[in-house]
Amino acid sequence: ESVVNRIAAGEVIQRPASAVKELVENSLDAGATSISVVVKDGGLKLIQVSDNGHGIRYEDLPILCERHTTSKLSTYEDLQTIKSMGFRGEALASMTYVGHVTVTTITEGQLHGYRVSYRDGVMEHEPRPCAAVRGTQIMVENLFYNMIARRKTLQSSSDDYPKIIDLISRFAVHNISVSFSCRKHGANRADVHTVASCSRLDAIRTVYGVSVARDLMEITTSDDNPARSIFKMDGFISNANYVAKKTTMILFINDRLVECTALKRAIEVVYSATLPKASKPFIYMLISLPSEHVDVNMHPTKREVSLLNQESLIETIQTAVESKLMNSNT
Ligand code: ADP
Ligand code: MG
Repeated sequence: ESVVNRIAAGEVIQRPASAVKELVENSLDAGATSISVVVKDGGLKLIQVSDNGHGIRYEDLPILCERHTTSKLSTYEDLQTIKSMGFRGEALASMTYVGHVTVTTITEGQLHGYRVSYRDGVMEHEPRPCAAVRGTQIMVENLFYNMIARRKTLQSSSDDYPKIIDLISRFAVHNISVSFSCRKHGANRADVHTVASCSRLDAIRTVYGVSVARDLMEITTSDDNPARSIFKMDGFISNANYVAKKTTMILFINDRLVECTALKRAIEVVYSATLPKASKPFIYMLISLPSEHVDVNMHPTKREVSLLNQESLIETIQTAVESKLMNSNT
């Protein structure tokens, strides 16, 4: 059974960056306004995510890392919402099958926190009282220690740290009421560091640099034709002065970090048609639409989504991008 669990867990947590994404999303769901990430050996040795969120209650600790344990079901009305938000109650459990997980947490009004380690879905010992300030710290050590082939592949391919930095950068740009930091273990300088309550453009400037923020234009569009998908899009896109060899597309749908290759390609097409001499674009886009219009079911672990009425939605966005580029170009 344990082998089956491990294989399933390895599907949910495919690489260190996927563990980081799940941990940071949990911190955001816990209402954290400060999240810091520490990484050792590209996450294979250590991933540590600390937040100042609402913490985990003592009585929830024994089952915290059991599969399908989630505290989020009651807060979302229907299964569809849960599915589309990716609330599966599988992330933490999976991490305990492929790594060593230690949780330190304190809830509001408690005098001390608790620390407990998990292995293969269960607590290794009773929670131990410990000093804690506020929120939760989750440590994942020796990820894939029991998946030798996976570890080897990850060690020989390039280190996951740049992927983790990229991920935190995206979260930081989107969640402007949260301060983020991400550093390598032992480093005294953070590689991403944002302060809460800045403007979106400030966040982009802090994370991606002045030269990027300078060349961005605000964009917004919506489509309230009830026959089509009811959606709203806001964001920033680069103008003709922006220079880059690769497209940066930061996409959040209903507040979840996702990827939509079809949309990305469609926007690139507009750029090359409208600004033939310009480089690849920088795009930050926030789309909100009814959750039943988002399908993340293609693969439970993939960030790639498909959308209902995807073609018409993409067309609407293309039109908005095109007119923005045309106006800026004249
Ligand atoms: P899900 O996020 O789908 O509910 P996870 O396996 O990611 O499942 O997390 C399981 C549960 O652990 C969450 O529902 C939540 O109750 C709790 N949890 C995990 N991380 C945190 C955190 N940083 N702060 C508070 N609670 C957390
Ligand atoms: Mg989660």
